[in-house]
Amino acid sequence: MRITFHGAARNVTGSCYLVECQNKRILIDCGLYQGNREMAEENRNDFGFDPASIDFLLLTHGHLDHCGRIPLLSRLGFKGTILTTAATRELARLVMLDSARIQEEEARYRNYKASKRRRSQEEAVEPLYDTLDALNSLDAFVDIASFAQPHDLCPGIRTTFYDAGHILGSACILLEMEEGGTQRRVLFSGDLGYNGRAILPDPAIPPHADTVIMESTYGNRLHKPLGPSIEELYQAINTTIARGGNVLIPSFALERTQELLYYLREGIEQQRLPRQLQVYLDSPMAVSATQIFRRHRECFDEETWAVISAGRDPFELPGLEIIRDTAESMALKHVRGAVIIAGSGMCTGGRIRHHLRHNLWRSEASVIFVGYAAGGTLARQIIEGAEVVRVLQEEVEVNAEIYTIGGFSAHADQQELLNWHAQTGRPKRTFLVHGEVEAMEILAGHLTGTTVEMPDLHQSFEL
Ligand code: ZN
Repeated sequence: MRITFHGAARNVTGSCYLVECQNKRILIDCGLYQGNREMAEENRNDFGFDPASIDFLLLTHGHLDHCGRIPLLSRLGFKGTILTTAATRELARLVMLDSARIQEEEARYRNYKASKRRRSQEEAVEPLYDTLDALNSLDAFVDIASFAQPHDLCPGIRTTFYDAGHILGSACILLEMEEGGTQRRVLFSGDLGYNGRAILPDPAIPPHADTVIMESTYGNRLHKPLGPSIEELYQAINTTIARGGNVLIPSFALERTQELLYYLREGIEQQRLPRQLQVYLDSPMAVSATQIFRRHRECFDEETWAVISAGRDPFELPGLEIIRDTAESMALKHVRGAVIIAGSGMCTGGRIRHHLRHNLWRSEASVIFVGYAAGGTLARQIIEGAEVVRVLQEEVEVNAEIYTIGGFSAHADQQELLNWHAQTGRPKRTFLVHGEVEAMEILAGHLTGTTVEMPDLHQSFEL
């Protein structure tokens, strides 16, 4: 038995781990590398294994950095089965098709640029994969029956999914394997959520395991509590609306947008926000994702069920307007005193840039950042206090009020990671993945009674 780390090794994207047992090859996640151009180029490198040789792919959840290389796997010959939850299958479909479209657009743009430079003899850039590859890979998906119910992959190899509480349908995955009289229980955390979040139940208590592969995104940090963050959100909205400005919220389409709608609805019901609050959801992807949430009520927590049982929709507000059309989105420049939720979360693309151009220079407006902003992104420049920024080829003064509200993370923090790990019953070995080196090293210092490894890319270990 052996495990090899083909992604998210000493960084936070590109999750991909290969387990070999009884001549079967099982992949856990096949995510895209994201970040700067160098990182993105990593996606074009060899997987480190032959895609055609993979029998099963077990998918923890639908975030791009966990499912985003599946269409490429399919393009390069993968013929196996992809097992995951029904909600993850639907979210992965949306995410992979969106990613394919972006890959196609980027290749077209680079080819256009090359032709402008009169270098048409340059080799044309091929997209990493296209829409057809994404559609083809969907045929391989099979839903698991439910959480905590074992599923035999073959005699001697069994898998069980447990609720990870990270995004809709997200799972931790246990592999129970037997080979030549040796038995192993290997547990993959996937990305972990934490207790007390909106919409999703708390992460399930994990099963005992002898080997644990654990994410470490926030291995060196503690989150701000959620309660004061919600209060700050309401206060920022009330103050801005009162002075006639727009509130822009750059948001990620999956989970964060649905959480925002959930909290806005609660705020209105509890009379902490005005009943006539005008909210525009200007992101086709977020609108589709919200529809997927509505179809997968089996993933909701008790509080969300209570809302549904009372005859209400958890994501519906009296003043909510859904914008799909580009022209309608453009027309929002005439709107005042409204909340506009649009992608992308880090302002690197999407419709939020138009709204920033029309609002950032207005002192009565505000921008509320509710998610992570990587270095070098427009979001990070604004958060760090830039006085002038470049938006869509235009210099725009930053006069709007800027809020950074940190309590809405989808990931467990250091203490929550340690609590989860303690519940796995003193595993002999722990592999830390999906984290920057500094976060991993600090987390490793807090893990006792287990041998901690921080694998390099493509490094193998006997189990
Ligand atoms: Zn994730």
